[in-house]
Amino acid sequence: MRKVVNYIHHDWNVAVYEDLKGKHAQHCLCWDCVNFTPKDRNTNCKIANTLYNLNVLLGITTPVWECHDYQSLSQKTKENKE
Ligand code: SF4
Repeated sequence: MRKVVNYIHHDWNVAVYEDLKGKHAQHCLCWDCVNFTPKDRNTNCKIANTLYNLNVLLGITTPVWECHDYQSLSQKTKENKE
């Protein structure tokens, strides 16, 4: 049985499967998307900003598993180098 642990995230005491703690970015499409600029909320993807605000408001973490607007950053970087 998987172990659930708690820790403080965005000022919330949240529960998470221990083996997934801190790994949401590894499973989230946004981190390989040209639309994702998390350090600049003004230029950041509106979907990502909305999800982030919802996460902070509700004390949840929601990686993006599927997205209609995803554009590969690694593919673009690769093309620019060629
Ligand atoms: S377009 Fe989709 S994958 Fe890209 S940053 Fe926005 S929510 Fe994430």
